[in-house]
Amino acid sequence: MSLQDYKGVFVFAQQVDNKISGVSFELIGKAKDLAADLGTEVTAVLLGYNVKDLADKLAEFGADKVIVVDDKALEVYTTEPYTVAMNAVIEQYKPDVVLYGATAIGRDLAPRVSARVHTGLTADCTKLEVDAETKNLHMTRPAFGGNIMATIKCPDHRPQMATVRPGVMQKISPVAGAKAVVEECSVTFEKNNKYVEVIDVIKKVSDKINIQDAKILVSGGRGLGCGENFKMLRDLADALGGEVASSRACVDAGWVEKDIQVGQTGQTVRPNLYIACGISGAIQHLAGMEESDLIIAINKDETAPIFDVADFGIVGDVTKIVPILTEKIKTEVA
Ligand code: FAD
Repeated sequence: MSLQDYKGVFVFAQQVDNKISGVSFELIGKAKDLAADLGTEVTAVLLGYNVKDLADKLAEFGADKVIVVDDKALEVYTTEPYTVAMNAVIEQYKPDVVLYGATAIGRDLAPRVSARVHTGLTADCTKLEVDAETKNLHMTRPAFGGNIMATIKCPDHRPQMATVRPGVMQKISPVAGAKAVVEECSVTFEKNNKYVEVIDVIKKVSDKINIQDAKILVSGGRGLGCGENFKMLRDLADALGGEVASSRACVDAGWVEKDIQVGQTGQTVRPNLYIACGISGAIQHLAGMEESDLIIAINKDETAPIFDVADFGIVGDVTKIVPILTEKIKTEVA
């Protein structure tokens, strides 16, 4: 079989507790662009138990076709049955491209599948493009600590596979009532010594906010001077109806928790408004926020790189400017 015989852009449609993860919709959005460039269609691969009803949701976000493997063995994610199922789908349908979310599940599954189907995998991509001439997928990701962007190809094997972190790609606006062609793929699961038996699932209760869902983020950096000054960011965020985020420097200093860190080793965010307070704009930080709709930077150093990506900049002491801004917003809104 030649490489040209592999067709279609496939997306692993991750679901947990029969709820599709947001990254799957984002990947379908990107897959639509790639499929248009390749003259092919977008297929979502839905694995789970009693999940067939989720197919329409995938169609609403742009999937032309949904391949479902519905089996009790796939009720809770474990590596081996999901690998067997994904492997079977790839063997049967021969896709050209397969995308996975760089979630805990995607990061576990994609390398296993790539080894089993004897192809490559590029992890944590920030950009995916089809080369106009060769039609190969160009997969770009930060390398060497984020100091360079490496573009990786997989010209000799199929499918071309990549993982992409949540928040990097954009989902399309859902088309209500859209329907996809749904095909069931039957897979035989034979228990072997690689199978893990899940005896119980105990969910961690967390009251933490997810900064990826916030429309407005007020983000603090080392320029705040101390952890206590995050209180003024909280006040500004509350006045704006937003949430607080942070650079890695503040996480490393123990001022804030890691779950609000933005950047290459934190989360990728794309809010409507990102206010960077005392953040220099290191490349690893920009990687997580530069796609925000509107960026306002406050920094006392007018040459700080954050101003290169900011739509508006305020040069001055963040600890003086933030309380003034908060007061102004409160009085203007009141
Ligand atoms: P600094 O770079 O120290 O900048 C502080 C800024 O505050 C300066 O621009 C200064 O002019 C300004 N300032 C100081 N005082 C005031 C004041 N009173 N008023 C106004 N402005 C003031 N970083 C991340 O953020 N996220 C990541 O995910 C991440 N991942 C990384 C991964 C790797 C492999 C590596 C090597 C690094 C990573 N980093 C990450 C770290 C990154 O390189 C920077 O060190 C970090 O982003 C700097 O944080 P900062 O901007 O808060 O601090």
